[in-house]
Amino acid sequence: MLIDLHVHTTLGSTDSNLRPEALAREAARAGLDAVCVTEHSGTWTDSQLEEVTNDSVKIFRGREIETEMGHVLAIGMPGFPNGMHKIKQLAKYCEETGAALVAAHPFRHHMNPPAGQSCLLTRSRNLFSTDPTVLASELPDLSLFHAIEAYNGANTSVDNGIAAQVSEILGMPTTGGSDAHSIEGLGSCVTQVDGDPRSTDELVDVIRAGAVVGMARNSETPS
Ligand SMILES: [Zn+2]
Ligand SMILES: [Zn+2]
Repeated sequence: MLIDLHVHTTLGSTDSNLRPEALAREAARAGLDAVCVTEHSGTWTDSQLEEVTNDSVKIFRGREIETEMGHVLAIGMPGFPNGMHKIKQLAKYCEETGAALVAAHPFRHHMNPPAGQSCLLTRSRNLFSTDPTVLASELPDLSLFHAIEAYNGANTSVDNGIAAQVSEILGMPTTGGSDAHSIEGLGSCVTQVDGDPRSTDELVDVIRAGAVVGMARNSETPS
């Protein structure tokens, strides 16, 4: 099954102009079997999900959380207790509740950062090496995740490349997601998952089992 595992809509991301009612239709047009909405403001409710669900494409739900070490996709996480910006606390809560945790675009702006931008993950550790072996060994917190988003449609291919190499060195599964905030780019990066998960809970099991592989589907990723 091909899933775009990182999508924002107007329902929970003020920086998106992708309307939720257009999501399933546009995802089908992009050749996807499923999408996972990962809003900034929280996880969709049951009724929000039911309203936009149709037969053509499955819609799963997670959320994107800002943490001290950058953005994180949490899927299947109930509620939102205090302290979730602390990665160890977040990982502990996800273990207790059986949720799946993916490091979102972990090396965004690490290579050739634009003016005024930097990579939170590596900057927080004063780590400026471009050697994936060094990055893998100096970032032990990456082992707190079930997978690494090595294919992010809003990243440069160079930053994605570092993430893919670090994932390989660590022997960690990868995911892909467009990070689309409009219909543009939806499905540009995807996650191939084993089997046919029918619910978010089943998707969580697949991710936690590591049965996921990320990939880019076109050459439009900015370089
Ligand atoms: Zn993000
Ligand atoms: Zn995002």
